[in-house]
Amino acid sequence: MAKTHILGYPRIGAHRELKRAQEAYWKGDIDQQALLAVGAQIRSQNWQAQQAAGLALTTVGDFAWYDQVLNHSLMFGVIPERFQNGAADNRLDQYFRLARGRAPSGEPVAASAMTKWFDTNYHYLVPEFSEDQPFTLDAEWLLAEIKDAQSLGHNVKPVIIGPLTYLWLGRGVDNALDLLPALLACYEQLLVQLADAAAQWVQVDEPILGLDLPAQWRDAFALVYKTLAKASGSKLLLATYFSTLRENLPLVFDLPVDGIHIDAVRGGEDLQPAFEALRGDQILSVGVINGRNVWKTDLAQWQQALKKEAEVLGDRLWISASCSLLHSPVDLETETGLSEEHKSKLAYSRQKLDELQKLQSALEPGVEPLAAFPQTDSRSEADIRQQLESTWRPQKFSERVEAQRERWQLPLLPTTTIGSFPQTDVLRQVRKQFRNSEISQQDYHDHLRAEITEAIRRQEILGLDVLVHGEAERNDMVEYFGEQLDGFIHTGNGWVQSYGSRCVKPPIIAGDISRPNAMTVQWSEYAQSLSKRPVKGMLTGPVTILNWSFPREDIPRAVSCLQIAKALRDEVRDLEAAGIGIIQIDEPALREGLPLRQADHKAYFDWAVGCFRYTCSEVNTQTQIHTHMCYSNFNAIMDAIVALDADVITIESARSDLRLLDVFAGENGGYPNEIGPGIYDIHSPNVPEREELKERLQQLLEVIPKEKLWVNPDCGLKTRNWAEVGSALLNMVEATRTVRSAL
Ligand code: GLN
Ligand code: ZN
Repeated sequence: MAKTHILGYPRIGAHRELKRAQEAYWKGDIDQQALLAVGAQIRSQNWQAQQAAGLALTTVGDFAWYDQVLNHSLMFGVIPERFQNGAADNRLDQYFRLARGRAPSGEPVAASAMTKWFDTNYHYLVPEFSEDQPFTLDAEWLLAEIKDAQSLGHNVKPVIIGPLTYLWLGRGVDNALDLLPALLACYEQLLVQLADAAAQWVQVDEPILGLDLPAQWRDAFALVYKTLAKASGSKLLLATYFSTLRENLPLVFDLPVDGIHIDAVRGGEDLQPAFEALRGDQILSVGVINGRNVWKTDLAQWQQALKKEAEVLGDRLWISASCSLLHSPVDLETETGLSEEHKSKLAYSRQKLDELQKLQSALEPGVEPLAAFPQTDSRSEADIRQQLESTWRPQKFSERVEAQRERWQLPLLPTTTIGSFPQTDVLRQVRKQFRNSEISQQDYHDHLRAEITEAIRRQEILGLDVLVHGEAERNDMVEYFGEQLDGFIHTGNGWVQSYGSRCVKPPIIAGDISRPNAMTVQWSEYAQSLSKRPVKGMLTGPVTILNWSFPREDIPRAVSCLQIAKALRDEVRDLEAAGIGIIQIDEPALREGLPLRQADHKAYFDWAVGCFRYTCSEVNTQTQIHTHMCYSNFNAIMDAIVALDADVITIESARSDLRLLDVFAGENGGYPNEIGPGIYDIHSPNVPEREELKERLQQLLEVIPKEKLWVNPDCGLKTRNWAEVGSALLNMVEATRTVRSAL
C-alpha cells in the first residue's frame, strides 16, 4: 500500500499563535519561557495532526522561530562578524538579532538581508558568507525537537535543507561552491547525529534542482550525495519542488539516495520519466496535493494516474503534498464566515492531510473510481495568448506623448506621488466600525470623502503637479478590488507566513470574475471635483491581483487574468468618461508570477503583459497611462516592463542607491517612455533634506533626459504619518522647483 507523508507543515498555528507570542516577546510583554511554550505547543499540535491523519511519518525540523534558512545558518555557525559584537546572552535572542537586528538582549545591529524563497511569497534570511567561511555544527535544537516528537510516540522524519541549496541561497562570496568541502563535513556529522537519534529517514530538500543550474552546480550533486549517503545511517529522501526537473531528472535519479520526492503539481511532465528512472531499491514520493493553494484536490484524477504504479510499487510509492504546506493556510475548521458551499471546495493544510489518506485508500486494489471534478472552461493558456496578441493602443508612444503634452501642459520634472496617503488611526477605526455594521455606508463614505478632501487640500498647498485621491477607501491594494469584483471569496483566517511574524491573507479566486459596479470612479471623480490640477486614477493591475490571490485550479491562470483585465478595462473606460485623464495601473507583482525556468518566461509574459495592455486598450490618445513597480530584480523582466508600454512608469528605487537606474536608463535601450524613480526612501521616518534631494535630481538628470523624468517618492506613504509626509513632500517639491528653474 502507498505510504503518506508531507514535506512540512505551517508553523504559525491555527490562530497565528506564533505571531502573537513572537511580537509579545519582542515587546517585552512575555518572557522567553512563555514564548518557548507556545512553540512547543504548536509543534506538538502539528505532529499530532499528521499522526491523526494516519501519515506514515511525522515531519520534524520544519518549525522555525523566524525562518528555516536562518535555522541552518545558526546550525552551521554562519554568523557574520557584526553579530559577534554585542552578542545576545542567549541563543534565541542571538537568532532574533540575526533575523531582525534586535532582540530583548544584545546590541541592535543591521539585520540580515531577506529575499523571496523561490517563486513563493515567503521570504528567507539570506546566509551571509565570508571568504574562508568556517562552519561548525550545532544541531542541538533539531535533536531536541526530534526527541520531543519521539517521546510523544511519533515516527519521525527530520527535514533539512540540502547543502547545495543552502549554499546557492547565500551571498558574500564569488563562488559559494568553494565553501562546499567545509560545509559538507558538517552535513556528514549532522547525518551521523540524526541516525544516532534513530531517524530512519531524513528528508533533504534541494529545490534548486528545479532551476536552470550552471553546469558546475549540477556536477556537484553526484559528489555531495555520494559523501552524504556514505556518512548517513538513515535513509535519505531527496526532495525537490516548485518546478520541473527536466534536464536534471537523470542526474537526480542517478544519485545514491534511497528516495526522491518530485512536485507533480508543478512538474507533472516529470512523472512518467520519474517512474521509469526509479531504481528498484528506491522509493518515489509524488507530490500530488498542491501545497501552495487552498483548493481540494481532484483525487479521482490522481487515483487514475497512479493506479498502475501503486500496484507495481506498493509501499515504494509515497504520496504527499507538492511542497511544504508552509505555503497553505492552516485549518479550514477555523473559518466561521465562509458558506458551506465554498467550504466544501476548499482544503487547508489540516484538510490536505485527510486528502492524502483518502487518496491512499483510493489507490488500494479494487477500489471504485472516485467522482472527478467537472471541467469548467476549456480555454487553454495558449488560447488566451493568441487572443491577446493584437489588443493594444493603436498609437505609438511618440504620438501619444505629443497629444498628452498638449492636453496636460505639465512643467518639466512633474511632481506626483505613488497613490496612497497616510491611513490615520481614525480612518482605520471608522473602517472597522463600518465592517462591523456599527456605522452606515453613508457615514463611512462621508468619512472617506472627508479624507479625500484633506488629501487634495494638502497636495494643493504642497504644490504637487499631478494629484492622487489618496486611497483612503482601501485597506489593501488587492483586497479592495477583490471585494468589489464578483468571483472572489475572502477568508477570515486564510493566513500564510510571509516572513517572521508577518502573514498575508490572499483572497481566493473562486469563479469567473466580473465587475458588477464601478470600483473607484466615485472616489477619483470626487477628488477631481476639488481641484483644477489633474488627479490620477488609481488601479491595481490584473497581473498583481492574480498573483496576490489564490488562483483557480480548474482553468489556467491566464483565463482568470484576462477576466480581471476585462473588468479593469471597463473601469478605465468609466474613469476616462468621468474626466480622469491620467490613470495609474499598479503592477508590483508582475515578477511574482515569473516561472522558475527561463524557457517558460516568454509564455508567461505573453499573457501577463497582454492582460495589462488589454486594460488600457481602449483609452484615448490623450489619456496618460502610468504603471508602478516596487523594488525588484528588474534585469530579468526589463523586456516585459518595456512591453507594457505605459506612458509613465514609477519605480521604487531610493533604497537601491539609484543603482537600478543602470537598467532603466541603460544605454542599450533602457526604458523608452517616461519614468519616475522614487527619489527618497519613505521607509525611514527621517525627512529628506532639500539639498540631498536636489543632488539626487541632478544625478538623475545625468542619466535620464529631462523630458522623460518625473519626480516622486518611493511607494508606501500610507504607512507614514502626515507630519512626515508633508515635510518630505514639501522638500521634494521645493528641490524640484530649484532644479527645474535651472533647466
Ligand atoms: N498605489 C499603491 C500605494 O501607493 C502602490 C502600492 C505598492 O507599491 N505596492 O500604496
Ligand atoms: Zn511600490
